[in-house]
Amino acid sequence: MSVRTVLGDVDPSALGTVNYHEHLFQVSPLLAGDEIDDESRSGEEATLLRGSGFAAMIDATPYGLGRQPAAVARISARAELTVVGSTGAHREAHYADDHWLRGTDAAARAALFTADIRDGMPAAETSLAEARGERAVGPSGEPVRAGLIKTGIDYWAITGFERTTLEAAAAAHAETGAPIMVHLEFCTAAHEVLDLLVGLGVAADRVVLAHADRDPDPELHAELAARGAYLGYDGIARAKVRSDAELVDLTAALVESGHSDRLLLGGDVARRSRYVAYGGMPGLGHLGARYVPRLRRQLGDAAVDGILVTNPARLLAV
Ligand SMILES: [Zn+2]
Repeated sequence: MSVRTVLGDVDPSALGTVNYHEHLFQVSPLLAGDEIDDESRSGEEATLLRGSGFAAMIDATPYGLGRQPAAVARISARAELTVVGSTGAHREAHYADDHWLRGTDAAARAALFTADIRDGMPAAETSLAEARGERAVGPSGEPVRAGLIKTGIDYWAITGFERTTLEAAAAAHAETGAPIMVHLEFCTAAHEVLDLLVGLGVAADRVVLAHADRDPDPELHAELAARGAYLGYDGIARAKVRSDAELVDLTAALVESGHSDRLLLGGDVARRSRYVAYGGMPGLGHLGARYVPRLRRQLGDAAVDGILVTNPARLLAV
């Protein structure tokens, strides 16, 4: 078993503490003015994340959202932060009406996703030809491969575009074994998207439901965890929506109901205006510096090490 990182394959036991969801680059018409697109600033942010106690992160930026695989690999090497890159596609709303990905069917998308994992991510992806063309090169001349397949659905809806991506993800998963992350809107349609993936031959325990905590319902989460799916908690530091206290309680409830082996923790800070190196707050260092110690005090080291170390290593191992 090994984990495919942007700098090569590593033993799962060597990963250490993993932040399961951040973005070193992200550009989307949905997030105009909040672009994360500067290598040196994103590199500073990666150093803050490393300094806050995380040894590794999943970069959850898929096709069409400004991911820069070669720059991600350089940042990973400089910051000494292990990074697992993503292939796949986000929910439909992130793609302009004329985006080339809309013109691809499930077979074409599956071929792109599989190539990203096996051969490396493309150097550029502003067209289908580029996406199928030259591969990105890391600091030591190696291809920069993806280790996870990102997908996404809408609020109580799975659009045709999103279903095509899920079909492609299932096919690429069958070829490569790479796990699948599903972006959920407020944890809606979680059972439905799991049903769809299971129907396509994907085991539920190869799926992580991102942003599950946007509906902090311990009973719903226990049901999803009992099916085998991983729950991604990444809504920390959003006091306008809910207090971190509620997320600590939610985590404690899942640990208490016996599902601590399904939990993952990330920051998904994801906006230029929230990155210290771009002039904002609280930055990628916040989760490790402020929230993780609180979780350790409340839940103990064994549960938290399971969430940060054991669970992501199990999910990412192929
Ligand atoms: Zn994200």
